Amino acid sequence: TDIQELLLSRIRDVPDYPKPGVVFKDITPLLADPAAFTALTEALAELSLRNGATRIVGLEARGFILAAPVAVRAGLGFIPVRKAGKLPGATLRQAYELEYGTAEIEVHAEDLTPEDRVMVIDDVLATGGTAAASLELIRRAGAQVAGVAVLMELGFLDGRAKLTPELGGAPLDAL
Ligand code: 5GP
Repeated sequence: TDIQELLLSRIRDVPDYPKPGVVFKDITPLLADPAAFTALTEALAELSLRNGATRIVGLEARGFILAAPVAVRAGLGFIPVRKAGKLPGATLRQAYELEYGTAEIEVHAEDLTPEDRVMVIDDVLATGGTAAASLELIRRAGAQVAGVAVLMELGFLDGRAKLTPELGGAPLDAL
């Protein structure tokens, strides 16, 4: 579609970042273009409402940049999922595997209740490890998963396969 072409045209390939052999998808040109950023925000907000979401979760750090305006646009609350050690209150914490070692993410425990239907927003789905861990947090909090939406999915890394068991039938959309 026209919107997909616009979005794709504003994502820059940066070779050998953050290390040799990796091509990083840089979304800063998209964020700097008001037409593209607005179109992306609106598309993600529509998707979230269509999925029956009552809460928007953003994944640190680029996920925050997208999820916050989506939450405002959709008229829903925003909940940050942060790297471990950043949230001041009582948290749920989830570890997940990286290529080398492990990482941990957290959410404020009181932010997610069994009444919530949660939409998870991030910029790029790569291996799926981060998104899968966030779904695990949502499930452990007793909340429901409305879906996962990302700007871009790196299909060759097959993050979708890793995420599918955690989705419990909820949709994964990549714009
Ligand atoms: P995953 O856990 O799916 O392997 O990695 C996804 C996380 O790493 C996301 O939060 C995303 O922001 C970041 N990420 C991985 N690769 C890229 C990339 O090429 N471009 C951008 N913008 N983010 C990436």
